[in-house]
Amino acid sequence: MNSKNKLYNILSNIDGNSYKAYKSIEGFYDFENYTLIIDHVQGDPFATPSRIRVIVNQQKEQFPHNLFDLVYKKIAVKDYLTRILDKNIKKIYKRVPGSGKSGLLTIDAPGQELLDRTSVIIDKEKIEARFEVGLPANGRRILGKKAIEIFFKYLPPIINASLYYNNIDKFKLNEQILLSEDQNYIREQLKSKDLVAFVANGSILPRESGISQKVLKDNAIPFKSPKTLEIEMHTPNKGIIKGMGIKKGITLIVGGGYHGKSTLLKALELGVYNHVTGDGREYVITLEDAVKIRAEDGRSIEKVNISSFINNLPNGKDTSRFSTDNASGSTSQTANIMESMEIGTHLLLIDEDTSATNFMIRDGRMQKLVNKEKEPITPLIDIVKNLYTKYNISSVIVMGGSGDYFDVADNIIMMDNYFAKEVTNKAKEITKEFKQKRENNNKEIIIEDINRTINYLAFNIDRIKIKSSGVNSIVFNEIEINLNLVEQLIDPSQTRCISMIFQYIIKNKLYSKYNIKELINYILKKIDKDGLDSISYLKGHPGNLALPRKYEIASAINRFRKLVIK
Ligand code: ADP
Ligand code: MG
Repeated sequence: MNSKNKLYNILSNIDGNSYKAYKSIEGFYDFENYTLIIDHVQGDPFATPSRIRVIVNQQKEQFPHNLFDLVYKKIAVKDYLTRILDKNIKKIYKRVPGSGKSGLLTIDAPGQELLDRTSVIIDKEKIEARFEVGLPANGRRILGKKAIEIFFKYLPPIINASLYYNNIDKFKLNEQILLSEDQNYIREQLKSKDLVAFVANGSILPRESGISQKVLKDNAIPFKSPKTLEIEMHTPNKGIIKGMGIKKGITLIVGGGYHGKSTLLKALELGVYNHVTGDGREYVITLEDAVKIRAEDGRSIEKVNISSFINNLPNGKDTSRFSTDNASGSTSQTANIMESMEIGTHLLLIDEDTSATNFMIRDGRMQKLVNKEKEPITPLIDIVKNLYTKYNISSVIVMGGSGDYFDVADNIIMMDNYFAKEVTNKAKEITKEFKQKRENNNKEIIIEDINRTINYLAFNIDRIKIKSSGVNSIVFNEIEINLNLVEQLIDPSQTRCISMIFQYIIKNKLYSKYNIKELINYILKKIDKDGLDSISYLKGHPGNLALPRKYEIASAINRFRKLVIK
């Protein structure tokens, strides 16, 4: 371990030198109250910033061990400390100037959701916080004095205010832990109560704008359950919470345009994750294996069995092993269902706004004009019941445009001026009064041979170059994996993590041992056992990874355009 004076001296000495000389500061430095570790120095001021860590000894600092003795608590504490560090960086640090990424100082700040992430590590011995720093330069000349400011003037008070138990808001930290406990508890309770989702009274579902996940502050109407669907959830910390329970089976959300249907569904989609205090959706909780199913024309599909929905294509193409480089709305939406079933979903979330019409419905008149033999598609309306009765897969469907769905729905919720009402009985009466003109083609679907294995050819690559950018894109050996329409992928660090998982799968040739489902389960088990760090190939700490769900990992594999399935 070096003294901090050594770092000071090196930085003074290399001031004005060419950027490469920064390499000499890699190492460990004793800052008395903490250790600073400079893991990896960037190649030039425009490259990905340098990676540094700070370790605070827990012997001195004593975050009580019972705050992180269970997995969910640990996740909550790590998330909380990351948010505090981010806040304090923004409050204390005045960015030093320079070229390119000079003067950047960041921690991987979370959004509205609470995910397992690698930005902070805590155990009985230590707390470790991981940052990215743009080591400052003027052009490509080292600004050593500016670097000294970062390490000696700004970082110490940031660490001091964020990583010492006595300096942080203990009450808020505890509140976050208790909240996650309640959220996880409710999610568990859903199963024993035969529910697929819970929306607490008082939840604020709408967001600030189409590009912000923050809560809508002005004029938001809080959610209130219809009396007939209201249930009580007993939670360990908050006591009884009342709200709407969405039962297993088929639930329709109907209502006029702009009355809040999609907003409710969106909240359910993200209810697979826990939300932080103040989000408005803290107690909107959905089964963890719920999957949004939407149309995604243009995506590639590799040997997916879509024959339950689509058969007898005009070109005679085999739909039990259907492949295309350019899917249509209906084939893409079907593939999205089948691929999610392959991984194990029990809840489909579908919005008419983002669905292919011919995938959703076919009315009586159209059935008359285009007879069954001429129509390859069996619409969802004829399959959705069977999916539930035979495969225990429930659906929540937003459908303002077709009353044909009344026949197959178990529960119907109407959104009316942002208020939820139950209209199941009323809708069922209407079905008696206005007899259905369409022929019910309720289809027994048989789904076998659902598990696919990757052919080694797809991944037998010596040189792997893979990089994610933002939430929605991974570039793998110059081929883009487009994740724009994978709506439950929400954090760029999840996407980064998926690109690491790709790398891990390929390097360890896991694809030759397991099918896709087993492959993903294997990786997640490993992460569960050894931590997210264990799949990283970075030089230095991998401080900006967040855990994705298995469905989103599968989504990335399935959207890889060079994928070859056996
Ligand atoms: P629909 O899908 O029924 O057409 P949306 O869910 O898209 O309607 O909502 C329409 C608009 O109303 C959106 O701008 C949304 O943010 C807003 N909104 C939704 N729910 C509420 C609410 N509870 N309070 C206030 N505004 C809301
Ligand atoms: Mg809508």
